[in-house]
Amino acid sequence: MAIKRREFIKTAGSALVGAAVGSAVSIGVSEAKKKTVGNSVQAYHVNPSGKARMKLSFEPYELQLRHTFTVASYSRTTTPDVQVKIEYDGVTGYGEASMPPYLGQTVESVTTFLKKVNLEQFKDPFQIDDILTYVDGINEGNPAAKAAVDIALHDLVGKMMGQPWYRIWGLDPAKAPDTTFTIGIDTADVVREKTKECADQFNILKVKVGLDNDKEMIETIREITDLPIAVDANQGWKDKNQALEMIHWLAEHGIVMVEQPMPKEMLDETAWLTENSPLPIFADEAIQRLKDIPSIKGAYTGINIKLMKCTGMREAWKMANYAHAEGMRVMVGCMTETSCAVSAAAQLSPVVDFADLDGNLLISNDRFEGMTVVNGKITLPDRPGIGIVPLNSVIL
Ligand SMILES: [Mg+2]
Repeated sequence: MAIKRREFIKTAGSALVGAAVGSAVSIGVSEAKKKTVGNSVQAYHVNPSGKARMKLSFEPYELQLRHTFTVASYSRTTTPDVQVKIEYDGVTGYGEASMPPYLGQTVESVTTFLKKVNLEQFKDPFQIDDILTYVDGINEGNPAAKAAVDIALHDLVGKMMGQPWYRIWGLDPAKAPDTTFTIGIDTADVVREKTKECADQFNILKVKVGLDNDKEMIETIREITDLPIAVDANQGWKDKNQALEMIHWLAEHGIVMVEQPMPKEMLDETAWLTENSPLPIFADEAIQRLKDIPSIKGAYTGINIKLMKCTGMREAWKMANYAHAEGMRVMVGCMTETSCAVSAAAQLSPVVDFADLDGNLLISNDRFEGMTVVNGKITLPDRPGIGIVPLNSVIL
């Protein structure tokens, strides 16, 4: 990829200022490896000595939630997480696996998987497709562990290219949408307080429904704000007629979309609901990976892509393109995560209809600065890779 010298130096320079010491040195190394081709500059020579190899390392890290998080099926105050690094020839890429309990992955399952990953067999980090096909083939499942490797590799390669992924994918960061901010199921007093806290900072809210107090939740929020609301029933509605009745009521109260209204197994009922619903219906629990899209096509208006479900950025990008080609709508979501995985997901946000990227705002022990929310809108940093820098207080 050829870019203008002045532009490259500017990008590398801003990365240098923002990056931690390890990455800063690495940008210097890649700078030294540029070569001039005509009037342009080739950003990086891969592995000129033939000896450099990728080194994967990882460590468990428990995410502390700011508030107890409640959805239709459970509550929790922490989320298990594993932080990952890939180092190559002085450049460091960061990744992360976040494991909310309902996905069935644990710190042990992720670290067991990561111990099997041998990246040293690959000479060229730019061969993302081959590398991640190998990683995906190590075991079935393990999407969060695979996503951690995927994100770190994308961060590494983006840094070597001196470009953020939204630019490598050809996307306009100005088209990044507003993000929703999630309000969990709680007592009316707590919901009122949370709504007051966030109503001025966001342009759209996401409300968890699916229990027997759905209307009360919405009416409580409507006492405070008229902001558009996305609702997520997390499979909580079991009867299609009642679900449709509820959706009509929601549409009259400023709700703009419904996520996973019914159990994922109830595909025919969901297809009926989508056909009759005045609001778009998005699949979340019903869709994990690219291969799942054909099986739910027609039953939902759109899909919620999450890196921890779909094994990372490579597949997320393919899913967005496939869904759009099939006439489906796309949203991008996240788990409770640090700014590492959230910023990785945000790279594709310019192409989505809805973004639910508030996972980093829900924790009190973030490790990175990355994507930010400015006046409710996703704001992508002009930094290479996934656009993150480690926070000063964190030694990585
Ligand atoms: Mg959801």
